[in-house]
Amino acid sequence: MPPTYKAPLRDLRFVYYELFDGADLARLPGFEDATPDTAEAVLEEMGKIASEVLHPLNAVGDEQGCRLENGTVKTPDGFRDAWRLLREGGWMGLTARPEYGGQGMPYALGVAASEPMISANLAFSMYVFLTHGAYDALDHHASDELKRMVLPRLVDGSWAGTMCLTEPQSGTDLGLVRTRAVDAGDGVYRLTGSKIFISAGDHDLAENIVHLVLARMPDAPAGIKGISMFLVPKLRPEGGRLVPNGVSCSALEHKMGIKGSSTCVIDFDGSTGYLVGEANKGMRAMFTFMNAARLHVGVQGLALSEAAYQAAAAFARERLQGRALTGAKQPDKEADPILVHPDVRRMLLSIRAFNEGARALTAWIAMEIDHAQSNPDPERRREADDLASLLTPVVKAFQTDLGFEMANLALQVHGGYGYVREYGVEQIVRDARITQIYEGTNGIQALDLVGRKLPAHMGRYLRRFFHPVQRFLEEEAADPAMQEYVAPVAKAFERLQRATAWLAQESLKNPDQAGAAATDYLHLFGYVALGYLWARMAKVAREKLAAGAGADAGFYRAKLATARFYVQRMLPESGARFATLMAGSAPVMEFPDEAF
Ligand SMILES: Cc1cc2nc3c(=O)[nH]c(=O)nc-3n(C[C@H](O)[C@H](O)[C@H](O)COP(=O)(O)OP(=O)(O)OC[C@H]3O[C@@H](n4cnc5c(N)ncnc54)[C@H](O)[C@@H]3O)c2cc1C
Repeated sequence: MPPTYKAPLRDLRFVYYELFDGADLARLPGFEDATPDTAEAVLEEMGKIASEVLHPLNAVGDEQGCRLENGTVKTPDGFRDAWRLLREGGWMGLTARPEYGGQGMPYALGVAASEPMISANLAFSMYVFLTHGAYDALDHHASDELKRMVLPRLVDGSWAGTMCLTEPQSGTDLGLVRTRAVDAGDGVYRLTGSKIFISAGDHDLAENIVHLVLARMPDAPAGIKGISMFLVPKLRPEGGRLVPNGVSCSALEHKMGIKGSSTCVIDFDGSTGYLVGEANKGMRAMFTFMNAARLHVGVQGLALSEAAYQAAAAFARERLQGRALTGAKQPDKEADPILVHPDVRRMLLSIRAFNEGARALTAWIAMEIDHAQSNPDPERRREADDLASLLTPVVKAFQTDLGFEMANLALQVHGGYGYVREYGVEQIVRDARITQIYEGTNGIQALDLVGRKLPAHMGRYLRRFFHPVQRFLEEEAADPAMQEYVAPVAKAFERLQRATAWLAQESLKNPDQAGAAATDYLHLFGYVALGYLWARMAKVAREKLAAGAGADAGFYRAKLATARFYVQRMLPESGARFATLMAGSAPVMEFPDEAF
């Protein structure tokens, strides 16, 4: 039974237009065309492309992988046609500015549309996502001349983009980057060095590839403060032609998953590059790319878990084994479907409750990013930016840690069939594993949350999350019917507040306290954020049912049942995370190094 995939359009509509006021985005300047009807049409069309074009290529990409032939990377069969289809449909420029040929849609719509694309085929989506990321970084930081040269080509998909940070000795610690950039005058630099693990570093989908490269100038300060960002095209425009620019792919990595995505060693040999942003401020420019990328990787965690859920739910309805503990449910058959077994239901509901909660969290942050960039009110812009900054590491790490865990549960639902290839779920597990590693490992996201985001502006970022949660809990405290959802969230929220106060005090005395607590704290945060959103979703569902939901009644009843499952069966994990982090760093740090 090969897996199938259908975009969760009803649930996307629920989070964007019923839980949140998606129509509000069309009131932001420049987004007047982003009406709910347009958004619905965009998502429906992407849903179709995902199911009919990208998903059938997912196993092909996994089987064939990429090949390096005569210095050029060949993508798996069908990827070129899919890229062409997206180009012709204007998908590369969905959220890009109209002046560069884009459609000028809100960022949040781009995020919503990316979910089905990733669910259907993560490996393929990497080429699109890196091109979008390069567009965004250049749009924010490049000179007008560079923008005119590159952006229209990224938007029409004739060129593609990459981010080149990692080197063999420089992964998490980018201060160790050795690639050199020497000033050749006239704003041109010559770059020499080798980058590893570069996603979409070379391929045959586009005519040209522009690399955003972190490098160091000869007189730059040591460490992270001496890193600059350069745009280095694979082929350099010269006299109306594209000529080779000393950029080559010398090897492809053989890896556990996302095999259809090329992961390249890219060598620069005196390659012409152009400075993007200010000299020695490359990390600032790259952070634009990395922040958007971190949110996007959080979507990858959710999207893979959604694909895994769909496969597991379909399997559990079909697979007949054993009888329900309370007596046969389908006595006419040889056995009952495994869906009747409490343990199988536990697994399916865990995945579902995570997916719908994560979809809400993603939508919330994506819409706040639109407000941060386009709201005319500076205070609203700042508030939105604070919240997005705070929650970006949570979305990245929590959603990919749980995304992987959930994909693994979906495999478990399949029993032995999950471990063999044709059911597709083992590919999802392998593909999901990288999301916890790239774009800053999840451990680094946790340190970012604890070390940078919590103390920022005397806790201002944190208040952007704590205040609305506190307000919601207080407002709902008076409604007895809401208590089954609200009371567990209030308890978990209180733990989060206590853990935050403890961290603020302890990490001043001993930084290892923060380091040892970080991952558990981030997870505690994630569980509370989803709990808050589940309580809000329950409120919406109750209101819709009370107003007479008609044909949608089943959808809202399932929402309420999933909310109940989340607060009763998943949110208690916040208690374990709280207890673990409050144990402090001693059990971790007092273990003698030589005993490892
Ligand atoms: C398939 C794939 C695609 C990739 N795509 C790209 C790409 O397109 N562009 C690009 O530039 N890079 C890319 N990368 C590289 C990726 O971003 C890095 O692998 C990642 O950032 C981690 O760096 P590292 O592998 O050197 O691990 P290290 O930095 O060596 O880390 C090893 C371990 O130590 C931990 N650690 C390190 N430092 C600290 C610290 N200060 N505190 C606590 N823990 C720490 C880490 O969390 C990790 O668990 C890709 C990697 C892969 C595998």
